[in-house]
Amino acid sequence: MNHTQSPRRLLDRFGRLHNNLRISVTDRCNIRCFYCMPADNVDFMPKEHLLTFEDIERIVRVGTTLGIDRIRLTGGEPLVRRDLHLLVQRLAAVPGIRDIGLTTNGILLDEQAQLLKDAGLKRLNISLDALDATVFKAVTRRDGYERVLLGIQAARAAGFSPIKLNAVSVRGLTEDQIVPFGHMARDTETIVRFIEFMPLDADGQWQRDKVLFAHEIIAILESEFGPLRPVGANTMVVVANGPLAIIGNAATHAPAQDYEFADGRGRIGLIASVSQPFCASCNRFRVTADGKFRNCLFSHEETDVKTTLRSGGTDAEIAELMLACIAAKNEGHEINSAKFVQPDRPMYSIGG
Ligand code: SAM
Ligand code: SF4
Repeated sequence: MNHTQSPRRLLDRFGRLHNNLRISVTDRCNIRCFYCMPADNVDFMPKEHLLTFEDIERIVRVGTTLGIDRIRLTGGEPLVRRDLHLLVQRLAAVPGIRDIGLTTNGILLDEQAQLLKDAGLKRLNISLDALDATVFKAVTRRDGYERVLLGIQAARAAGFSPIKLNAVSVRGLTEDQIVPFGHMARDTETIVRFIEFMPLDADGQWQRDKVLFAHEIIAILESEFGPLRPVGANTMVVVANGPLAIIGNAATHAPAQDYEFADGRGRIGLIASVSQPFCASCNRFRVTADGKFRNCLFSHEETDVKTTLRSGGTDAEIAELMLACIAAKNEGHEINSAKFVQPDRPMYSIGG
């Protein structure tokens, strides 16, 4: 039975249909962003605990029978996983998969962009929080700024378009980066998406007052470039005390709300995960590098699929695990409630 005929779907108790699988291929990384990883002495998973490419392909094939048609590879840093392009090639050949994306820090992109493009990768998000080598190092605790710029160039040369940059915004650290990113969005075909800092850091240092909120980012951009115009259909419109915040795109399930500059040149996006959660339109399902299904970044529970994969489990059993995990999904992440508890696994270990 193929996925278009299947009556079974990854539908949760709140009517959300999940067609988007985010696959973490490793928890390793070549930099150490403070909002994600510890600075040193990281306890990485032993290599034999990682899902193999065969395991991942099997999960994806079963997922398509339940309506999964979009995939994003992430990590850790996915490009440190050897021969990642071969995984892309395998997944691109799975019937029912319409779209494969990758989120990367860009350090190794220079050498891999063309291979990935040729393997069938469709979309690329590159994470870069600063257009300044000093601030880059303050965030990542490693060198590598120039390599990311080379990676972006290589991605353009390989034909990825548009390229999206993800920039985590942190109060007291990245305010001065916002206007330069605005210029970059206007001067190059790059969509820069500002992400609010979420409580998923390994050191448990997140505090609400370190979040540079979406409406503050908009205010900084509007003071330099004039009014911003929202693009596309939106789930909510909030106009409070000045700069507008229009959050989540119900039509595409994208967590980002995009804006155009008044003169129509350039586009930026806001991912306001903290101030305006987009949980109501979430269509994401995750599998960690060590083979655990997760229904939310902020979940405290996960469903082990690796044991089933490795002990001769059937496709029907894997499908049941997916369905059960989605059935248990909570309504929202509760970051803004007093009962919020940060998950034990930090971002790099879950897969962002
Ligand atoms: N290593 C790759 C990268 O950095 O693009 C992929 C994995 S990373 C965990 C995925 C995305 O999550 C990146 O854009 C990163 O900036 C973002 N991220 C990580 N920790 C975050 C946090 N605490 N709050 C908001 N975004 C975060
Ligand atoms: Fe590595 Fe990405 Fe985490 Fe930064 S955000 S430490 S690049 S996994």
